[in-house]
Amino acid sequence: MKFLFVLMITMAISACSHSDMYRTNFLKQTEPAKHSVRVTWMGTAGLYVSDGETGIYIDPFVSRYGLLKVGAGFSLKPQHPLIDEWITLTGGQNAAAILVSHSHYDHVLDAPWFAEKTGATIVGSQSTANVALGAGIPNNRIKTIRDRDTVNIGNFEITFIQSVHSPALFGKIPWPGKIEQPLTPPAPASAYREGGAYALFVKHPKGTFLHYGSPGVKPGIFEGMTADVVFLSIGGRKDTGSLIDHVITPLHPATVIPIHFDDLFGPVSKEVTPLIGVNLNEFWTTMAASKSSFIVNTLPVGEERVLFH
Ligand SMILES: [Zn+2]
Repeated sequence: MKFLFVLMITMAISACSHSDMYRTNFLKQTEPAKHSVRVTWMGTAGLYVSDGETGIYIDPFVSRYGLLKVGAGFSLKPQHPLIDEWITLTGGQNAAAILVSHSHYDHVLDAPWFAEKTGATIVGSQSTANVALGAGIPNNRIKTIRDRDTVNIGNFEITFIQSVHSPALFGKIPWPGKIEQPLTPPAPASAYREGGAYALFVKHPKGTFLHYGSPGVKPGIFEGMTADVVFLSIGGRKDTGSLIDHVITPLHPATVIPIHFDDLFGPVSKEVTPLIGVNLNEFWTTMAASKSSFIVNTLPVGEERVLFH
């Protein structure tokens, strides 16, 4: 299996330009069993996961703005038609929860509106709670978590594990600190402070996965844990080797799925354009050279795939 994987990667690298590599989609679409766990990638770190009974969004973000607007402090606001479109596309009309890994705008800006439109509870840090409050989500649909808190949503058991944000902006964490007051958009990206970064460890009777919303590295946090699948954000990472050492190797996943490598400054689209500077070549070659036994699958944007049968 490892040899085959290396061969496939080698072929992919030699056959494709960097921008083509994300299209090497190894995860096959199969007919969902009635109670299989399914996932739809929404671009960036956004996922919709459903077991047919319970649906959860993680970091759903579709209201994208160009780099110039974000960098210049343009006031950002959620784009409601797009949010409606994505709720329909993912089938998440009755989602039970919106989980947020950290409160940068590209993870939390739309989260309260996914909650508002679906009736879901929003779960995240105190900073995320302030974004929800500023959007008018009632207190009884906001759950604030701390390190190692566990919440149960249907058959999903989610543990929030405090990690660290990656030094994504010239070696520093962008917009650090907390959101101290309820925040109502429109607001500039800089108003959306990080608020603590959490890895989401999700257990379901069918399988276990980790959502790693920002590729910072905090050694030792996954001791004693294993995951079948790791959704690994790779945009803004320092390097891939440290992620293998401190995220992948400890968790022993069978499958690693890279996320958050698409261009978050362009429209969310099935035609994925990699984020400038994301260095997919380094990612693929380092993963292929790893001694750990896992395969790397990529997901298409906006198409449901079976995660666990
Ligand atoms: Zn971030």
